[in-house]
Amino acid sequence: MLVRLILIALPLLAVALLGAVRYGVLDVSPRLNPWAPLSIHETPNLLTRYKLGRASSDAQACQFALTQADWQYVAIEDQATRPGCGYTNAVRVHRMTMEVGPAFAVSCREALSLALWEKHVVQPAALRLLREPVAKLEHFGSYSCRSVYGRPNARMSHHATADALDVAGFVIGDKRIRVIRDWESDTVEGQFLREVHDGACQFFDAVYGPEYNAAHRDHFHLDRGSFRTPGIRCRTAQSVGKSVGKSVGKSVGRE
Ligand SMILES: [Zn+2]
Repeated sequence: MLVRLILIALPLLAVALLGAVRYGVLDVSPRLNPWAPLSIHETPNLLTRYKLGRASSDAQACQFALTQADWQYVAIEDQATRPGCGYTNAVRVHRMTMEVGPAFAVSCREALSLALWEKHVVQPAALRLLREPVAKLEHFGSYSCRSVYGRPNARMSHHATADALDVAGFVIGDKRIRVIRDWESDTVEGQFLREVHDGACQFFDAVYGPEYNAAHRDHFHLDRGSFRTPGIRCRTAQSVGKSVGKSVGKSVGRE
């Protein structure tokens, strides 16, 4: 009887508490408030993904959240080139906290994920493993009006809506770390790459690297978007198995 009562009371209590937080009756830290705006600087917790989703679906909230990033970027005009291609609410990034080489255009939601990844995964891993922050991110580009296969009947790539960036490597101090050379190496550089790849999974909707298929042997594809193989966000050796990953890759091609 008592157990039954508890089972009934607990959900009601949870709903009451959430309602009190939602309508400001109960004052809790923004970190613990699901309706507080996304903060790029706060240490991520279980609510971060939810807040990222909310900011991503609201153009103004997204642009506001992105102003917290210590970046050099400009908002760019919406573009619709042909069906399935173009972008809205995008920015051209000239510099993150690290140099980026050629400026790239990404949707605001992709930019937000990049900012979170840089702040909470990339730079901490660089400082811990290599004792210096990343000075430069090297990339293969973001916006590109193309399909996944490069064939007209395939679904469009997330690059076609500026929702993806292909990251080829990093410069840290006098070290140039490259996915194609260092991914499998048993060095601190290899460890750094594997850590920042796996750490990207908490902020992006898909992360594909060398374990996914041969087309990604030289870069990480980091994207935001809706199409997903259910339950699989990160293509790692752990999630699909090396041999399976390679066979899946043959049928999926380059994102
Ligand atoms: Zn890509």
